[in-house]
Amino acid sequence: MTEHVRVRFAPSPTGNLHIGGARTAIYNWAFARHHGGEFILRIDDTDKERSTDENTTQILRAMRWLGLDWDEGPEVGGDAGPYYQTQRGKFYAEALETLKANGHAYPCFCTPEAIEAKREAARSESNFWGYDRTCRSIPRDEALARAKAGEPHVWRVKVQDELGDITINDAIRGEVSWPVNVMDDFILVRTDGSPTYMFATVVDDWKMGITHIIRGDDHLSNTPRQIAVYQALEAEIPTFAHMGLIFGADGKRLSKRHGATSVESYAEEGYLSEALLNYLSLLGWSIDETTTLFDRERLIAEFDLARVSNNPSVWDPEKLEWMNGVYIRELGDEGLAQRMVPWLIEAGLLDAERAADRHEWLLELAPLISERVKTMSEIAPMVTFLFADEIVIDEASREKVLAKEGAGRSLDVAAQLLEALDEFSAEAIEAALRSIHEITGVKAKIAFQAVRVAVTGTAVSPPLFESIALLGRERTLARIIAARPSSAL
Ligand code: GLU
Repeated sequence: MTEHVRVRFAPSPTGNLHIGGARTAIYNWAFARHHGGEFILRIDDTDKERSTDENTTQILRAMRWLGLDWDEGPEVGGDAGPYYQTQRGKFYAEALETLKANGHAYPCFCTPEAIEAKREAARSESNFWGYDRTCRSIPRDEALARAKAGEPHVWRVKVQDELGDITINDAIRGEVSWPVNVMDDFILVRTDGSPTYMFATVVDDWKMGITHIIRGDDHLSNTPRQIAVYQALEAEIPTFAHMGLIFGADGKRLSKRHGATSVESYAEEGYLSEALLNYLSLLGWSIDETTTLFDRERLIAEFDLARVSNNPSVWDPEKLEWMNGVYIRELGDEGLAQRMVPWLIEAGLLDAERAADRHEWLLELAPLISERVKTMSEIAPMVTFLFADEIVIDEASREKVLAKEGAGRSLDVAAQLLEALDEFSAEAIEAALRSIHEITGVKAKIAFQAVRVAVTGTAVSPPLFESIALLGRERTLARIIAARPSSAL
């Protein structure tokens, strides 16, 4: 492809960035990066009642978190701005002037009541009803004069029937065609002068020089009307690419019913942005039959609309979780030690100022947990015992483990052995605790479990000997002593 590519992601800030929107953004971004073109972010905030600045802020934040940098748009600027539809009134007014001049739009003075009455009549005969073009036949000079004099009116597109059926060569779906005669002269500009979605979108895409419109196939039905607007403006029609939507496992379109759907909720749950990016990329696109894991460079290198599916894809939270676990393991000790810091600070376990001093210690902690967590939010609860001065032993473990015969004796011996160690390393601790069995005759498993519950507070924890080494001798001994059944009395 030699054409210079310009694509856009145009969310409406009526909610936060959700999974489906994020995937649309990713595909546009990857397409632009693959072709060395521009990725533009535009905020479609014409719905003034439902659009909020807060949603816009969230969308931008979620885009940045996913690493989807935009070349033009809010906070970045660009030559084709402004990038908020509410600030683009001048372009819609100009486009309307173009249509007035070329005659491809006309003012319509029919009252909403008159239109509703005709629609009702058609409905009772169960006929398709589009606007019946009453005002199309008003002589042009008269119509313009009435509009100018302030008579309430909307502006309608004059669909160019003579151009015939509307056909696109969708980059994903192939040829799609609509008969021109099912299209009515729909509204471009409302009585209050505001543009409709159909009009604003086309004017913006045109003025911004968008070459490819890549979006969900819920917009396919808008396409013929948008093409009618391009034709009216005598503007070049971009390439359309409509991808299949994302469905839940129940075959219904993904929604809140299927659990978390916003990108930020996944960030908060401890998904890594690179894992979510990888997973979302695969919802409707693939490199080949087998490749599941790839980084953003590979995504950019391989992205191709020809491999995007027009079938719905199924949201699979378990696969996402699995993938996140893989990515966490792939961070390595250094990466995980760094990435867990904000989670430990957030949980109140680590002081932001002291995080750097603890780096070596966190490096030792990383391998103990990397195999055990699938999300970053699981880390803090799993390692709280290493940070807290005192722990609370959960009742179930106390009853099941510490009350067992031999548990108390094991703890007594463990305390003596650990106190006597020269070097408080994982190896030395392991050797010491293994000898409890020889000394007391208590089964190794019972002894280990008793120590584990005493030291960590629960029967499930990261590897015991390493954990004890990280905890340090003083706190370990204090906990073992406190947990002895005799101490409880
Ligand atoms: N603002 C529209 C939406 O959020 C964008 C429509 C389009 O991609 O053409 O659905």
